Amino acid sequence: MTARLIDGKAAAVAIRDKVAAGVAKFERQHGRTPGLATVLVGDDPASAVYIRSKNRVTAETGMASFGHNLSDSTTGTELLDLIGELNADDRVDGILVQLPLPSQIDSARVIAAIDPAKDVDGFHPINAGRLAIGLPTLVPCTPYGCLHLLKQELGDLAGLNAVVIGRSNIVGKPMAQLLLGESATVTICHSRTRDLADVVRRADIVVAAIGRAEMVRGEWIKPGATVIDVGINRVPTDDGKGRLVGDVAFAEAVEVAGAITPVPGGVGPMTIAMLMRNTLVAAHRRTGLADPEGL
Ligand code: NAP
Repeated sequence: MTARLIDGKAAAVAIRDKVAAGVAKFERQHGRTPGLATVLVGDDPASAVYIRSKNRVTAETGMASFGHNLSDSTTGTELLDLIGELNADDRVDGILVQLPLPSQIDSARVIAAIDPAKDVDGFHPINAGRLAIGLPTLVPCTPYGCLHLLKQELGDLAGLNAVVIGRSNIVGKPMAQLLLGESATVTICHSRTRDLADVVRRADIVVAAIGRAEMVRGEWIKPGATVIDVGINRVPTDDGKGRLVGDVAFAEAVEVAGAITPVPGGVGPMTIAMLMRNTLVAAHRRTGLADPEGL
């Protein structure tokens, strides 16, 4: 069998188009533009690339983009002061602090300082708690993007066996909560899981969020399963440039799975699309409006 490729780029473009239409409508009706503030601390090249893309796509969807680039030596107090200003700024509907932060800054404190109504990453303890107890919230962008792809591919997820590999607060845990919310039967695996291959073999849905290049082998996959590969790993190549691979051995898994996301071009583009969606949703909720339709 050769699996269907799940096209994250196309799905992301469709969401971004809906967001752009929603932004134009919001502007017409409320006389202001939804806005996203991004905060980058330090000069990590990968983080700088992510922030540039986020700011560019924000502008492309017609929203206001407020980029803050702070030096590597920024103190926790300075960053908390900036968060306080952004919380108070009415033009700002969403605040995104790019992680990881330099070691002198307590990330948990910074995340907790963001107004939960502007927490478009969905990492604030209040938003994580709301997700856990099934209340409306701002959901972390990457797992929300994965859920969108799964529902697009499979429709109803109720009763399916879903295995999530990884239990980070950013991907694994919220992914498991979202799948549970869809009535899938969810297993969360991590570095202490025994017989991981056996657990994965029972899965109708596999979400790999590990950060280990091609760790999930084709022979672990149940024939016909749907595989969502969140991993982004750079591996060396002869020309020295390196190439990106996921957490799943794609060439093997594509022969067994029913559908699979490629890396790149699968989950990656969905993350920014969902960030745009969350910012528009935050603008609506902060204005006392119902969520935009179809998003
Ligand atoms: P993370 O915080 O490092 O978490 C990795 C998880 O994998 C941990 O729960 C860890 O278990 C588990 N793990 C590590 N080694 C394992 C093993 N041998 N067997 C089973 N589980 C193992 O990483 P993350 O932030 O969730 O990110 C995961 C991957 O997704 C990375 O490649 C990252 O670059 C990528 N990512 C992509 C996007 C995107 O937009 N596409 C967004 C975010 C992340 P323990 O908890 O036991 O340590």
